[in-house]
Amino acid sequence: MSRLNISKLQEQLLSWYARHRRVMPWRAERGRKPDPYRVWLSEIMLQQTTVVTVTPYFTKFIAKWPTVAALAGASLDEVLTAWAGLGYYTRARNLHKCAQIIAEKFKGKFPVTVDGLRELPGIGPYTAAAIASIAFSRQAVAVDGNVERVVSRFFAIEEPLPSSKEIIRGRAAQLAGDNRHPGDFTQAFMELGATVCTPRKPRCMFCPWQRECRANKLGITEGLPNKSPKVRKPVRYGKVFWIQKKSGAFLIEKRTAKGLYEGMYQLPTSEWVADRRIAKKFAAPYYSSQLRFYPLNQKIRHSFTHFDLVLEIWTAAAKNPVKAPCGNFVFMEDIGGYALPTLMQKAIKLCAKTQVA
Ligand code: SF4
Repeated sequence: MSRLNISKLQEQLLSWYARHRRVMPWRAERGRKPDPYRVWLSEIMLQQTTVVTVTPYFTKFIAKWPTVAALAGASLDEVLTAWAGLGYYTRARNLHKCAQIIAEKFKGKFPVTVDGLRELPGIGPYTAAAIASIAFSRQAVAVDGNVERVVSRFFAIEEPLPSSKEIIRGRAAQLAGDNRHPGDFTQAFMELGATVCTPRKPRCMFCPWQRECRANKLGITEGLPNKSPKVRKPVRYGKVFWIQKKSGAFLIEKRTAKGLYEGMYQLPTSEWVADRRIAKKFAAPYYSSQLRFYPLNQKIRHSFTHFDLVLEIWTAAAKNPVKAPCGNFVFMEDIGGYALPTLMQKAIKLCAKTQVA
């Protein structure tokens, strides 16, 4: 590849961004200083999640908790309830923890460096670089999936992901160099990947780097980045239990086990195990010995990052009082007040169609 004129490439990208940047609720208006709280909140929400999905959640959080101090003053239950449906709930728990640290230890001010930010819960290398550059104009390279794609194509890196990550990071740093506007550059880099250098049919005609892009010259844009073949995810099996009173109220309980969905609400559920035969034998929870359970002829399927889940649904009518130490009977119209993950929202919708009382 001929010697690149890095400062010219930076200027081309920044001037493209000045013309084509999308308006987003967390993005500072042109000429305005970004609000670190908004930048941090959006970056946490955008981890593994699209702009379209995040936008209403971001708007809701800002209306409810306009400052980091306000968020720190909320209970974890309130934060989990507002987060319900956005997935990856460890993010919400870390968000709350982080807000409390910022409010109490840092008097409401976020650290301005990548190293300082990385000390905080829920902030990894990518998020720290994004916040440091966007909120505090620090030179830092934030490499997300969009940037990976642009860089792989621009340099025609044929080594497959994920083993090419380090090469890509180095090349991204080369392009970012020391630029005049680190915050705009970070956002422009991602924006180019999101809107022009798209996974399918990149719109190279509109790309400010078209003349220098190696994949474009070689006609191999859509083939990059190369990815190692996907390993099939393991499957886990279990049961979920729908216990409904004649009034229509049904039982939900708070999940106390550490880890996935900790502190959130759920329909009573068995363990989730790899062996389908073991899962078939799981009994209903101990407080339901007076209940007769019947299988529903439908299953709930849900995909997590590391495994897929298949849950059988068993239903019972609660004719007598049910002893459920961690549970509440609730009505459908009230479930918005509970932190229910998407999996459980799906299960409730499906079960509610079947009247068992
Ligand atoms: S020219 Fe095409 S492939 Fe190359 S960076 Fe631009 S949009 Fe991506």
